[in-house]
Order: sequence, then structure tokens, then C-alpha cells
Amino acid sequence: MTLIKIPASSLVVLCGPAGCGKSTFARKNFKPTQIVSTDHCRAMVSDDESNISSSYRAFKVFRCIIEQRLAMGRLTVADSTALTRKARRELLEMGRAYDFQIIILVFNIPLETCIKRNLSRSRVVSEKVLAGHSRQLKKTLEEIKQEGFDGIHILDLEEKENTSVHVVPLPLERQDSGPFDIIGDIHGCCDELEMLLDRLSYIKNDNSYAHPSGRKGIFLGDLGDRGPRCLDSINLVMAMVDEGNALYVPGNHCNKLARYLAGRSVKVSHGLENTVREINKLTEWKRTEFSSRYLEFFYNAWPYLILDGGKLVLSHAGITGKMIGKLSGRIREFCMYGDTTGQLTPEGLPVRRDWARNYRGKALVVYGHVPVPEAEFRNNTIDIDQGCAIGGKLTALRYPERELVQVQALDRYYCRGIFRNLASLPGPGEDLHPSLMPSADA
Ligand code: ATP
Ligand code: MG
Repeated sequence: MTLIKIPASSLVVLCGPAGCGKSTFARKNFKPTQIVSTDHCRAMVSDDESNISSSYRAFKVFRCIIEQRLAMGRLTVADSTALTRKARRELLEMGRAYDFQIIILVFNIPLETCIKRNLSRSRVVSEKVLAGHSRQLKKTLEEIKQEGFDGIHILDLEEKENTSVHVVPLPLERQDSGPFDIIGDIHGCCDELEMLLDRLSYIKNDNSYAHPSGRKGIFLGDLGDRGPRCLDSINLVMAMVDEGNALYVPGNHCNKLARYLAGRSVKVSHGLENTVREINKLTEWKRTEFSSRYLEFFYNAWPYLILDGGKLVLSHAGITGKMIGKLSGRIREFCMYGDTTGQLTPEGLPVRRDWARNYRGKALVVYGHVPVPEAEFRNNTIDIDQGCAIGGKLTALRYPERELVQVQALDRYYCRGIFRNLASLPGPGEDLHPSLMPSADA
């Protein structure tokens, strides 16, 4: 028996010749309300599901129902032949617009079987049409991998009979309800991180930390860059995650370091120069070891996490209520970079919308990314980046207690190129004025 796991926020596209058994498979594996079928739409507009002259209107209804279901965040099965690239692209675009996972099930059933099955039902399609579908199926199988689906399952005759679908939560949703100690952007401030873990009663063990009563740390990304001990910070977090003592969501600086280590072209600036300097001091063997360990760690991390039965959401740069529970390239970008408009301010900084101002979700969203002088609850969100590397504080939020534990930066490690007005830099311990916020990174 083959099990296909499908995330709850999926648009499932069925694809195959007429008579291959798509609707039968859908009925066996999904709720009737989840299935939107072109045949049914034909019947809805013309009282006859085989009335080809109603196809234009039927497809309008088909797209409309799918779109409305996606807007409601409901798992949807698109039951049509989807044998043309155009038809599949339309469904892909619809799914993308609503940040759904788009999973295609291709029914690779031989023409003879389709002909036989077709004859066994009341609505019979001509053999000429079936032969055309069979040719389109062959082309589809050649092209499907390049079309951008999040999951592709090819079901052949044997496979189809023995396949069942399980709807599962996204792996970023965990049952774990804590207690947690959620720690904001470290940015290479490992001394302060060690002091903070100590204050939170974690016990040092080699190069890692664990809590005696099993509390877990959660790191909100941006581990290196800017501070004096970038690799120590990254290694410490990786060790805690490896040992099951912490969870992690990646930040934009983590992404940039991964790109750098993977040999992609990145501008070594905004603090990355500090991490790179430390990397360059390693022996070649150590450098290779660090690089492969970090890349595995980074690429295995989910862009955000849902914990405590949906009551707690962790994301480096935040998330909107509508995105929670879904996963797409756009959401991944948002979680790492925030709600950027793509424009720059006259000073060359990215223009960002204040997503938290409009947040009305039930889950508490804990995030960082933009340093603010104080961590304050706002619309069930809290920004716990208090700019440690630029002379602020490293913050931990204890959950579910909702208590803040903070360590004052021992120094102001980073400022050049990050403040707009160097003359008005705050001293360590002084509040950072919002107008002095650092850029979001290029
Ligand atoms: P269309 O694209 O025309 O809607 P379809 O792919 O939805 O076709 P179905 O209507 O599900 O095809 O199935 C066509 C016929 O084949 C039906 O009579 C159905 O009962 C039969 N059939 C479906 N699956 C099987 C199977 N696994 N074994 C035998 N018969 C099957
Ligand atoms: Mg059908």
C-alpha cells in the first residue's frame, strides 16, 4: 500500500485521460465537499455533465469555486483532465496566489484500460478523444517536472489501486507545548548569549547547553554577523538543536551565509564580513566541516514554526494571520525578510510594511529582525530583537510565562554602515531611537 501524504493546505490537481478513474479515486480519498469537478460544474450550469457546449461556463464555475475554497484556506481537489500545460498553469497560479502547496496526481493509465472503463459507464467519451488524451498524457509526463508543482505523484495502474491519501499537518506544526525560552537575534554576541542561558538556568555541557528541567530554547535566526563571536554563536545553536534542546527558525542573515557557503554570489556586508573573517581563520578541513554542517542545518529548518496546539508561532521577521498553516516561497521570504515592498527609502534602506499593526491572529507571534528598544506585546505579537550587537540587549521571552529575561550588551560591536546618523548613536544601555534602526540587510 502506497501512502501519499498531503498537507492540509493543498490544492490537489488530478491529471489524466477521461475514464482513467480520477473521480473514483477522489471519491475514495477525499470528502465530497473537497472535490471540485468540471463534470459536476457542467451539470450545475446545464443539467448535463457531458454537455460540451457548456464547458466555457462550467470552467468559470470550476475556477470560481476553487478560488473561493482557497480563500477560505480549505483543502481542494481539482478534478479535471488537466492534460494541457495551460490548464495546469492556471491551477498553479491560483494555488500560488493563496500560498497553497500544489500537489499533482498524474494517472498514468494505459489507453486500453481507459477505453474499457469508459465503456463501462453511462457517460461515454469517444475513442478519438481518449486517443488524444493518451498522447497528451505522454507529453505531460515529459514536462511535468519543470512546471513548478510542490509535489508530483505518478500513479500507474498497479499503484493507483493500492494508493491512499493521508491529509497531514505541515511538519512545521508541532504538538510541543513547551515550556520554552525564546531568544531573539544573537548576531554573534556569544558572550551575552552564554550569560543569558546561564540566567535562564541552562547548564553548560561541552559546547552546548541544556535545561535541567527540560525547557527548550527557541532561536529566532540571525545567529552570526556583526558581533565578535559569530561562529561560536552558530555552533552553540546548532549543537543545542542537534541534541534536541532547542528549535530554530532561519533569518535573512542565516540565508545570506548559506548562499555564501554554497558558493553563490553575495555582497559580504551588513556584518557578514565578521562571520567570513572568522571562517577564513579556520583550517581548510574545519572550514569544509563547518560549511557542510551549517548548510544541512539551514536547509532542514522550516521558515516558521507553529507550537502549543497553534497558540504560539515563531518566525524571524514575522508572519500574517493568513499565512499561518501554509507554506510557499512567498511565505518563506516574508518569514526571513518581513513585509518588504521592494522599494528603498532615500537612504537606501528597504521599505517595509508594519505587518504586526494589522495582525489579528489568535496565535502569539514571537519575532525579531527589526531591533526595537523594548520588547512589548502588540496585537498578540512581540518583537524580541533589542539590537544586542549595536549596544542594546539580548532578550529571552519565557513561554508560557510571558516573562522577559534580558542581558545588556557588553559593548557596541557594530555600527559602521548601519546607522544613518553616526553622531546620534546611543551609548550602551541607552534606548535605541526608532529612527536609528539598522537596515534589513541587502
Ligand atoms: P473523466 O475524466 O471522464 O471524468 P475519470 O478519470 O473521472 O473520467 P472515472 O469516472 O472515475 O474516470 O472512472 C471511469 C470508469 O472507470 C467508471 O465507470 C469507474 O467506475 C471505473 N473505474 C474507476 N476506477 C476503477 C478501477 N480502479 N477499477 C475498475 N474500474 C474503475
Ligand atoms: Mg471524472
